[in-house]
Parts: sequence; C-alpha cells; structure tokens
Amino acid sequence: MAKLQSLFSMRHLLVLSLALNVSLILRIIYDSQLDLFFYKYPHQGQISNLHTHNKPRLLISSSFSNSSSSSTCEDHHQPPPKNNNRVINLDHGDPRVYEAFWRETGEKTTIRIAGWQSMSYFSDVSNVCWFLEPEFAEEVVRLHRVVGNAVTEDRHLVVGTGSSQLFLAALYALSPTHSPQPISVVSASPYYSMRDVEMQSYPSMTDYQKSGLYKWGGDADKFDKSGPYIELVTSPNNPDGCVRRSVLNRSEGLLVHDLAYYWPQYTPISSPSNHDLTLFTLSKTTGHAGMRIGWALVKDKEVAKKMTKFIELNTIGVSKDSQLRAAKVLRAVSDSCELQGGGESFFQFSHKIMSDRWKQLREAVQRSNGFFSVPTFSPSFCTFFNQNLEPHPAFVWLKCERNVEDCESFLRGHNILTRSGTHFGVSQQYVRISMLDTDENFMHFLHRLSTINFR
Ligand code: PMP
Repeated sequence: MAKLQSLFSMRHLLVLSLALNVSLILRIIYDSQLDLFFYKYPHQGQISNLHTHNKPRLLISSSFSNSSSSSTCEDHHQPPPKNNNRVINLDHGDPRVYEAFWRETGEKTTIRIAGWQSMSYFSDVSNVCWFLEPEFAEEVVRLHRVVGNAVTEDRHLVVGTGSSQLFLAALYALSPTHSPQPISVVSASPYYSMRDVEMQSYPSMTDYQKSGLYKWGGDADKFDKSGPYIELVTSPNNPDGCVRRSVLNRSEGLLVHDLAYYWPQYTPISSPSNHDLTLFTLSKTTGHAGMRIGWALVKDKEVAKKMTKFIELNTIGVSKDSQLRAAKVLRAVSDSCELQGGGESFFQFSHKIMSDRWKQLREAVQRSNGFFSVPTFSPSFCTFFNQNLEPHPAFVWLKCERNVEDCESFLRGHNILTRSGTHFGVSQQYVRISMLDTDENFMHFLHRLSTINFR
C-alpha cells in the first residue's frame, strides 16, 4: 500500500480524475450531437460515409427475419422498425433514393453563385433556345454520348422547367395552328396516371387549360378517329416498367417520346434513341427533381423554335441557376463514368441500389406465399454495362392475388399508401408503388409487408 501511495500521489489521482471527467463530458456532447443529426436527417442512408461509426446506422437488410442473410450493407445492429402506426407514403415517385451518392460528392457538386451572376434573361442569343446555358447543353450532349442512350447529332436542345413544361411545349409546337378541331393526344394504356384529373398526369396536363389546340383522346389502342393526332410513348413505361413503342403508326401521327426512365439504373440500354422529339428529365436521371430541369432533343428546327416560344410566353426562359447546377451534377455523373479512379460511377451505384431493392422486394413477395405478385422482366443486353441485365423499374406494379379486391385499401389498412390500378385504367387488384423513396421508408415498407398476416 505504501508502495502504491508512493507511485500515485494525490496530484496524480487528481489529474486522472479530471481527465476521466473531461472525456465523459465530451462523450455526452458527441452522442447528443449525433442524436440531433439523426433527428434532423432521419433519412440518412447506410451508404453515406458520414462520421457515424460509433452509432448503428439505418440499414436495408435483404431479409428482416434473418439478419445474417446477405445484404448490401455493412452493419446489421439496427433492429427492424417496430412502429406499425407510421404511415409509409409510396404513392408519389419522389426520387430520394440517390441522396447518399450526392452527399458523398461534397464540394464536387456544390455550386456558388455570386450576387452579380445569372442576372440577364439571355444565355445564348445565337441558339434557337436563347435561354439555354451553353455549359448545361455541353453536359447533356456529353452524358448521352457516355451512356449511349440518345442520338444528339442534328438535334436542337430545348431546356425546360422539368420535362412537364416541355411536354406542354411539345403539344403547343406540334398542334396545327388553324385547325377547327383540337388535335387528339393519345397514349397506350396503362399510362402515366390515367383517371384522376387532380393528379399530375398526361390527361390532366393536356386538358386542365381546356386548350383549343389539343385535347386528350384517351387510350391509343382504342383510338379510331381519322386525321392527325399526337401519340405519347413512355419507355420504359410509368406505371408498369415495360419497354414501349408507338402503337398507332399512321402517316398523320406525330410522336412525343418520354424517355424519363431510359437510363441504365432502370433498364438495359439497347441502342441510342433516335426519335423526332424526345423528353428527358433530371428528376429521374440523377434524382434532382427539386432543380426542375428537363430537356428535349428535337429534330425539326421549327418545332424547336415553337417549343422555345411556348417557354418564353410561359416563364420567359428557365432558371439559369438551376441550369448551372444541373451542368455541375451532369458533369459529375459523366466524370464518374469516364474518369473512374477506382470509385463507383453514379450508374454503378444507382443500378446496384435499384437491383438490391428489387431483390429484397421479390424476397418479401415470395414470403407472402402467393398473396402478392410482381411482374417478371427478361434480361437483355445493356450496351452501357456491357452485359445481360434485368430491368429495375422505378415503380413496382404489385398485384393482390387472394380474396383482396381492392389492393390500395388493403395496403392503406396497413398504413402503406400506394396508387390504385384504377388510376391507370386497370383493376383495383393492382397498385403502383414507388421504388425511389428514401432508404428508411423503403426499409419500413419491406418490414411492414413482412408483418402482414397472410392466413
Ligand atoms: N414523365 C414521366 C414518365 C414521369 O414519370 C415524370 C415524373 N413522375 C415526369 C415525366 C415529370 O418529370 P419532371 O419532374 O421533369 O417534370
């Protein structure tokens, strides 16, 4: 004891106790900051390399009943969520799924715009689309070349506030000016939200202003009027994920191709699309729906001019700030594909996450013992990934198979909000479910499916 006393004097013990107290206080502060962080950003995904190594992360497990089974994620400490009262809204296709990738890019995709910049209405007066930022145009052309999903040569590029604005600009530009009757706008069913006029959809967007130029004409397969018409072709299709072609093929038909989902994370790229008028959107390409940027590739100069006129009359151009930010994001995507320094490209990341989600969903559906079913898709060759791949659509078209007539109501009873097949012109046994929501919501969704009693 005397020996010990000589080793540790009173001063030593005091310093030791002080050090222990300081470390305890620091630990408490650190933990409370992380709690605050998780409270503020509850959707923080598992992929994000944030400083959370001391905290269990929110993870997607490929099987909630067996946490040791294979998964894409590193940490399985987090138990599946228990709260069955929480409402999981998968009705809309809000594309939050790629947030973790964009967090990782940090400064590379951060943009600073000084107070004096982006002040003029004009971007490039020598271009048909005079409000198109040359930097944005350059990155669009580069990305299509890198991915190989669209021909951009001999095309006019028109930028829009989302592809929604471009859709209306296209209808305006393609409609005959002096026709006594509005031109019919048709699409093969099931199409982008069919029945509900309150929702963002082709029919509601076509008819909400009761234009004298164009009018919704319904299902293209049932369209029997003679004369000119505009056919919308969405490929891969929303809601069912199928690859589509024009169904009417008449000489007086004008085509608008909506290729919002023709990107490698959703579908194998078969060849560069080569149509008269094609729409793309940043919302589904990179997930930046809030930037409100879309673009059209237009063959005919007069059509491109009229689309530009529509946007001029409508919003006098498109936000320059958004175009510059979009250019930076698209450059990061192309760079991630072309200059891979051992890192994962955006499309490798997004393809993996979509493929994991579909795998987990199919496993959950299988565990329902035939209560639910989902479509199967045949693999095909993807020129971007250079291999045979299965499609992973942005929405799942889920069917309730047994004694459940109204699948949307059934799932609502389990606090899962989906969109009934009736909105798309098919039976209420079907629902459309977004596969693009946050990791956290998707994880809750899978867990909720696993708690349903299928007897
Ligand atoms: N086309 C399709 C097929 C869509 O699914 C969506 C979004 N749900 C849009 C267009 C609208 O895109 P944006 O956000 O660019 O207006």
